[in-house]
Amino acid sequence: MAMPFVAGNWKMNTSIPEAIKLAGSLREALSGIDGVTRVVCPPFISLAGVAAEFVGSKIRVGAQNMHSKPRGALTGEISGLMIKDVCQYVILGHSERRQLLGETDTFINAKVRAAMELGLIPILCVGESLEEREAGNAGVVVETQLQRGLHGLTAEQIGTTVLAYEPLWAIGTGRAATPETAQEIMELIRGELGRLARTDIAANIPLLYGGSVNAENAHEFAAQRDLDGALVGGASLNANDFAAIASAFATRE
Ligand code: PEP
Repeated sequence: MAMPFVAGNWKMNTSIPEAIKLAGSLREALSGIDGVTRVVCPPFISLAGVAAEFVGSKIRVGAQNMHSKPRGALTGEISGLMIKDVCQYVILGHSERRQLLGETDTFINAKVRAAMELGLIPILCVGESLEEREAGNAGVVVETQLQRGLHGLTAEQIGTTVLAYEPLWAIGTGRAATPETAQEIMELIRGELGRLARTDIAANIPLLYGGSVNAENAHEFAAQRDLDGALVGGASLNANDFAAIASAFATRE
C-alpha cells in the first residue's frame, strides 16, 4: 500500500512574508504527526524562503508548475533546473493550467519527462469537467490524460510519480466529490497505472484526491481503499486545517 501523502497547493496566494509566516505555522502544526508524506507548494517567489523554513523538518517543498525546457528565450517562465535546488516535487497538469492557460497533454508530458530527468517528482493532475462527467465520459477522460501524461516513461519511472485525481467541478467550489465517486475513479486510475507500468508498481503509487477537501470531510476520503492522500487548495492556507487533513490520512486503516 502507498504511504499516505498530503500536498498543499497555495496557488497564487501569499506575499513573501505571509508565505514564511504560514510555513512557520505549518511546521509547528505538523510536527506531532507521523506516517504521512507532507508537501507544501508555495508560489515560485517564496520557494526558497519556505524551503529554508522547513530545513530539519519532515515537510517537503514542491513547485506549482515548471517549463519543459531547461533554459532559453522564454520570458517569464521558470524551468525545472531553476527550482530543483529548493524543491523535490512539482505539480504538473493542474486543471487551472489546462483550462485557463491552454496546457495540452503533450506539453504536460514534456514537463513530466523533464522533471523526471532532473530528479523532481511530478504530482500529475488529471480530472474531468462537469460536462464530461454528465456525458458519462469521466473514466475515459481520466484514462486518456494518464496515458498521454505518462507517455514514454518506463514502469520504474511511473512508479516514482504521484497522481492526483481532481474533478474540475470540485476544485475551489466547496462541492467535493463524494468519497464513493472519488474511490470509483481511483480504482480505475490504479488499474490503468497497472497496465501502463505493473500491478505491483501501481499499488505503491500515492493516489491523491483533490477538490474541496477540508478538515471536516478528510476522514471520509481517507476511509476509501484507493485514496492514499489529498491535494489540498484552499484549506492548505490554514495550518491547523492542513494538519487535520494530514492527520486524517496518517491514521487511516
Ligand atoms: C487544487 O487546487 O488542487 C484544489 C484541490 O483546490 P481546493 O482544495 O481549493 O478545491
